[in-house]
Amino acid sequence: MANMSVKKNEMPSQDPHVRNKNFNEVALGYSEEQALDEAARCLQCKHRPCIAGCPVGIKIPDFIKKISEKDFEGAYQVILEDNSLPAICGRVCPQESQCEAHCVRGIKHEPVAIGRLERYVADRHIALAKEAKVNKPQSNGHKVAIVGSGPAGLTAAGELAKKGYDVTIFEALHLAGGVLVYGIPEFRLPKAIVQKEIDALKKMGVKIQLNVVVGRSISIDDLIQEGFEAVFVGSGAGLPKFMNIPGENLNCVYSANEFLTRVNLMKSYRVDSSTPLVKSKRVAVVGGGNVAMDAARCAKRLGAEEVYIVYRRSEKELPARVEEVEHAKEEGIIFKFLTSPVEILGNEKRFVTGMKCIEMELGEPDASGRRRPVEKAGSEFMLELDSVIMAIGTSPNPLIKMTTEGLDTQKWGGIVINEDTGKTSREGVYAGGDAVTGAATVILAMGAGKTAAAGIDEYIQGKNK
Ligand SMILES: Cc1cc2nc3c(=O)[nH]c(=O)nc-3n(C[C@H](O)[C@H](O)[C@H](O)COP(=O)(O)OP(=O)(O)OC[C@H]3O[C@@H](n4cnc5c(N)ncnc54)[C@H](O)[C@@H]3O)c2cc1C
Repeated sequence: MANMSVKKNEMPSQDPHVRNKNFNEVALGYSEEQALDEAARCLQCKHRPCIAGCPVGIKIPDFIKKISEKDFEGAYQVILEDNSLPAICGRVCPQESQCEAHCVRGIKHEPVAIGRLERYVADRHIALAKEAKVNKPQSNGHKVAIVGSGPAGLTAAGELAKKGYDVTIFEALHLAGGVLVYGIPEFRLPKAIVQKEIDALKKMGVKIQLNVVVGRSISIDDLIQEGFEAVFVGSGAGLPKFMNIPGENLNCVYSANEFLTRVNLMKSYRVDSSTPLVKSKRVAVVGGGNVAMDAARCAKRLGAEEVYIVYRRSEKELPARVEEVEHAKEEGIIFKFLTSPVEILGNEKRFVTGMKCIEMELGEPDASGRRRPVEKAGSEFMLELDSVIMAIGTSPNPLIKMTTEGLDTQKWGGIVINEDTGKTSREGVYAGGDAVTGAATVILAMGAGKTAAAGIDEYIQGKNK
């Protein structure tokens, strides 16, 4: 019999006043009892609307049924058929706007906690499964290069390796994982989980060359000349945007990418870190997305007494996940809605001392469908600060476009592809993930990696017939 409880089983988490001083994972995961209770909320609908909400089409009712039958490994295998990174997606996917938004239980009450169940199954597998023997697929004799080791590149690499391709990933940073390691903080996504996924790929024979900036150390043309029959570009959208207001070049004004990279990748919160970060007491993060929430929550953990989110629209328009906003509030982040920065001020040594802001009100909807924020005349005020973090968006780095002949991009930098195959305008070059769409989500990047891997396979097999 279905469990008709109107609410999801709550996710056990660290106390907000404790966790805002450490980098340990916030959400602790369901117990077996909670997972079984939550699985019993699924109605096993015949028309399975939740699947349509999942960008990679996980057979959600099937894996939840397996949980109800206490066949947890069976549930894991069902997920794995469509998603190779379930422990990651169970933690960071915006389920509330994807699968859970389509759940019938969600029409009147709370939907089934599909993401939490996915995480439970994946974590249980990691904790209990014997070290699985990975059978290295038989080589098919063809070489493919992947640019970037984020979720798009890792997924494309895995799919191609399974088919026997000799795959090499070229990664600009000294660690693989893309945003999963340099952007999303440890307290939301433990890096050991990402490392496990990368290790599994290596066991399948995928090679990873770190510290290689494609377009600088080597070009796509060089790769093709070296015998790679196809190249997948999954180089993300790591180029930060700024507001172009006075004072943005003062010391202690960071892009969120730089700030998060210093914290997550370079572990600047440790005393032994070789990448320092100036200790700040009053920090403003400009923006309202997941990146802004992550930066604000990291700043708090680094010891800042007051951390502000400065967002020019109202709470209703915040693009960040509801869960992240709630967590940020619980941890003491102060939200300044309908507020926009005008100027950043500094002292004679060019360190930040404050930010002049102006209040906003919402006017008519703009092209994005959201109401346009308009300045309220005469409402300027000062925030006293010693750090400002800009989290107002990113775009793809133009380096690859600039160094690859015949690669078409959009005006804003996204690589143009055929959506069914991932094929670009350049023969043998495929692309996917944020490099194509601009900043999006992990699951969409993975879906794009999978599509492009199928496109590359078809291209190489077709060429060699
Ligand atoms: C702070 C933050 C929080 C986020 N939170 C969430 C979330 O909660 N849920 C969610 O679904 N999504 C979230 N996202 C978005 C998500 O992480 C991205 O959409 C996703 O990682 C995109 O994957 P990708 O593989 O396309 O690119 P990336 O993950 O950006 O990986 C690209 C890789 O390519 C490398 N690279 C770039 N240029 C070159 C070059 N020239 N040569 C070699 N290597 C290169 C980069 O170093 C990087 O490792 C977040 C993003 C950020 C920044």
